[in-house]
Amino acid sequence: MTSKPLTPDSPVQYVKTVGPVRAVALRRLGIETAGDLIRHLPRTHLDRTRVEPIAKLRAGQPATVLGEVLTSGERRTRQGGSIQTVTVADHSGVVYCVWFNQRYVLQQFRSGRKVMVSGLVQHHAGRPQLAHPDFEVLDDEGGRGSLHMGRLVPVYPLTAGIGQHWLRRLIHTTLAELVPQLEDPLPEALRRQRDLLTLGAALQGMHYPADQDELARARRRLVYQELLQIQLVMALRRGRQVERRGVQLQRPGDLTRRLVASLPFELTGAQRRALAEILADLRSGRAMHRLLQGDVGSGKTLVAFIAALFVIEQGYQALLMAPTEVLAHQHGQTLRRLAEPLGVVVETLTGSTPAAERRRILAAAGEGEVHLLVGTHAVIQDQIRLRRLALAVVDEQHRFGVRQRGRSARDGDDLPVHLLVMSATPIPRSLALTLYGDLDLTIIAEMPAGRLPAETRIVAVDREDETYAECRRLVAQGHQGFVVYPVVEETETTDTRAAVAEAAALAAGPFRSLRVGLVHGRLKAREKQAAMAAFRAGELDVMVATTVVEVGVDVPRAAWMVVHSPERFGLAQLHQLRGRIGRAGGRSWCWLLTSGHLAEETLSRLQFFAATTDGFRLAEEDLRLRGPGDLWGVRQHGAPGFRLANPLVDGDLAAAAAADVRELLAEDPDLSSQRWAPLRQVLRATFADVLPQATG
Ligand code: ADP
Ligand code: MG
Repeated sequence: MTSKPLTPDSPVQYVKTVGPVRAVALRRLGIETAGDLIRHLPRTHLDRTRVEPIAKLRAGQPATVLGEVLTSGERRTRQGGSIQTVTVADHSGVVYCVWFNQRYVLQQFRSGRKVMVSGLVQHHAGRPQLAHPDFEVLDDEGGRGSLHMGRLVPVYPLTAGIGQHWLRRLIHTTLAELVPQLEDPLPEALRRQRDLLTLGAALQGMHYPADQDELARARRRLVYQELLQIQLVMALRRGRQVERRGVQLQRPGDLTRRLVASLPFELTGAQRRALAEILADLRSGRAMHRLLQGDVGSGKTLVAFIAALFVIEQGYQALLMAPTEVLAHQHGQTLRRLAEPLGVVVETLTGSTPAAERRRILAAAGEGEVHLLVGTHAVIQDQIRLRRLALAVVDEQHRFGVRQRGRSARDGDDLPVHLLVMSATPIPRSLALTLYGDLDLTIIAEMPAGRLPAETRIVAVDREDETYAECRRLVAQGHQGFVVYPVVEETETTDTRAAVAEAAALAAGPFRSLRVGLVHGRLKAREKQAAMAAFRAGELDVMVATTVVEVGVDVPRAAWMVVHSPERFGLAQLHQLRGRIGRAGGRSWCWLLTSGHLAEETLSRLQFFAATTDGFRLAEEDLRLRGPGDLWGVRQHGAPGFRLANPLVDGDLAAAAAADVRELLAEDPDLSSQRWAPLRQVLRATFADVLPQATG
């Protein structure tokens, strides 16, 4: 049988040994072409460079053993579980392998089979033992060596119908055919300057590295390219934005001055610097694209409002978009209070605004009679057209809406809107650079004077009665508070039900003399908002809440918080929660009620949280522990996801890529020269919006 030579674009079905059935299975792994196959990277490698004779095994060392299955069996434990034991022999001795509750291993380890097991060696009753070892049953080919042993062996993500051995061989032969044909998106001069492998060598090294060092070099090359691409896209987007004119505004006028004079406090230095940067943007004639980043309670909202007043006093309109209805209403309420004495009209529009009210607001906004319109992202983006719109403020809290940002909500495009994005996420600068490279960055790194950190304590849940007694004393002194239950997904009915039941138990038990409210994500928007409004108005003493309170709720008199099962939250999330209390200044108290026995590292994580008030350090620790993919759901929210890069450990590569992007675009602002054609092609496949087909 003759077959056509393979190219990276060949459908995977036509790669030898695949066929239509396995092609369907491979598609589940995102593999459609031969090129996808070699970009399907291993999730890890097993170090099988050295196979040890069993007689040489030493306790406490990792080891790989090649041998034959002697016996396999199973027994029950008194707790109702099961233990599987397998003995494996080579010419020098016998090693015991044990698993707990893994019945399926017995089918794999039939006696006489050739197997490879690797794990940490322990000694049990004087014999060497491997607990839960990695293993592979070797087929005839494996027995002869080659891909599956005596080297760093790739371990791929699999799906039903695709076996590890088969996939290894398939990727190995495909690499051999495709690597010589690969076009490298990075020109040779750049590779040499940054000491980077070619794309082909890097892919080869990611799958079948000769040693750990080659694997590291392969990864480095691919991480660099990933960071370069993301930053290049950001820079190209930004380049196009800078060209756009923005409404050019004059100096601050009467409204801005009157507001600042009416505040019962002074602006912080950081707030004044942020305002200066924003006002400079608004007066520059170019459209502002700025990220205003600052810890919860650092006073971003006020800064944004002053910017809005500046626009309004010159006859334009402003918009504020919030991520949730609760937040939209809260912003609306706060801003209306500040705006009314100045004669500035603020209206709030969300999905639950009644139809008649909505029509009235839309008409008034269209006539220019509404100066500042507050609403949820969804409603505003779908429905609003303002003729005099000059400033859009987007409160992202800790979402990353990179792709949707900057959509204009105004008719015609003759007056590009100034954009101010507020984020409460104190992300490390390297990550900010990579995620938000298309925005200028302003950081408010100073809290209003007189803020005391919340006193945070870790308490075992069996001592909750004492904690609740403390809470009652605080309420008697006029302090409101929150009791928070973890609900990972607000759609998870069981979690929400548990929270509701606990709220009822609290209201009937320790807090029966208090006024207790409840908010959770499954309430109707209007119910949520009514409950929060009552709490803000002081009509409730205690608010029992699921994680909905996390997103920026401002109840100045709330001074204490009890968090149940804090181990289920990330550090950054706990920080956002704790930021809800003590906002009016004065002392505040946070109890973390931990359930049952915590793992050592969970406890030390919570202790770190209790001792740390700096959101920036907490975010960094979270990033270190959980990785960027997990950070407030970066991936789910459509930021250009990272496949390999970790902005925390790859900070130097990110900086190198940033410098190269600047240099590259200085020479070739729209990447149109032949030299960059291959990179351009890669970018176009991923980011069609910045590199339209027509100009390629
Ligand atoms: P953020 O939006 O950054 O979380 P807010 O703008 O909601 O913070 O401010 C939190 C609280 O601090 C609000 O009650 C606000 O009125 C108050 N505040 C803002 N700026 C100052 C300041 N300079 N001094 C004292 N309090 C301030
Ligand atoms: Mg806020």
